[in-house]
Amino acid sequence: MKTAAALLLACVSIASAQKPHVHIVATGGTIASTNYYSGNQGKITVADLLKQVPKVDSLATITGEQFSNVASSAITPELWLKLSRGIADTLRARPDITGVVVTHGTDTMEETAYFLDLTVADPRPVIVTGAMRPSDGIGIDGPANLYNSVRVAGDTAARGRGTMVLLNDEIFAARDVAKYNTVRPDAFAAPYRGAAGVTDPERIAWYRLPSRHATFDISKVTELPRVDIVYVYAGVDGSAIDAFVAAGAKGIVTAGVGRGGTTGGMRDAILRAKKKGVVFVSGSRTGSGSVSIGSGASRDTIPGSVGTGDLNVQKARVLLMLALTRTNDPKEIAKIFAANQ
Ligand code: ASP
Repeated sequence: MKTAAALLLACVSIASAQKPHVHIVATGGTIASTNYYSGNQGKITVADLLKQVPKVDSLATITGEQFSNVASSAITPELWLKLSRGIADTLRARPDITGVVVTHGTDTMEETAYFLDLTVADPRPVIVTGAMRPSDGIGIDGPANLYNSVRVAGDTAARGRGTMVLLNDEIFAARDVAKYNTVRPDAFAAPYRGAAGVTDPERIAWYRLPSRHATFDISKVTELPRVDIVYVYAGVDGSAIDAFVAAGAKGIVTAGVGRGGTTGGMRDAILRAKKKGVVFVSGSRTGSGSVSIGSGASRDTIPGSVGTGDLNVQKARVLLMLALTRTNDPKEIAKIFAANQ
């Protein structure tokens, strides 16, 4: 695996004053895979990906780099830092770039996209895309997703909207979107909040501004604090919490029942962890709805915890990791969560 190999490819030739300039950062995933279901999986590069997209060079002047070529299960917080810094550096150095497209595996796409949304301050858009079907599959979605992502990254109306995820003709705010299906091309959705826009054949329609609120300066962050997620279910005890604390967790997000509840069996482990300074954020395993950020009767099983609001638990983990680089005071962390609703 060649992470961050700055393999700059001049993929397109015709530069014109009118044409936007879109920079593609390829990280891997199903969009860049072949023989996905055969057990003998292969990979294709960003240059190969572009060859699959007819007329993409009529949309924009395109450059590309191969950041990595891995499934998104191999994307780590260390790689988030590297990816975010790399994008920020490229945008700083290249005022001619209109927007950035990141190709990524779909499994952890929402986490990477949210991390980028919280850490890339530049107003130029970052569009994260991928595919649900491998590059040599039937009815493949990767080329259309890449084509539409280049359209959106090159659209001046996309400026200031932060990081977005685009699949299946739908544009979502990174903050709102999650993967809700294991196999279908329309796997991504933002229930209740909805899409930020769509890429119709004749136009890009913007429905609303994504709710983008906070930018974290990671220029001096060398390592993100460890934050784990603990799933709550009937009869669960505190073993997972004790284990995560022993492994060095500085924060724990609970995927709680209903409006963020835990079980009596977890209580002692929670209290032990809190004595050691571990910050708790209460979320819900329901998949939608909110958990009150301040203390609320709905989740009083973890006194003094911060609620996720309507962030899902994997996104709450990303936000807590970044929040812990600033403070470990739950009151301050609650303000950060409130600012990110
Ligand atoms: N396993 C793949 C990944 O996340 C799935 C995909 O890209 O759709 O890398």
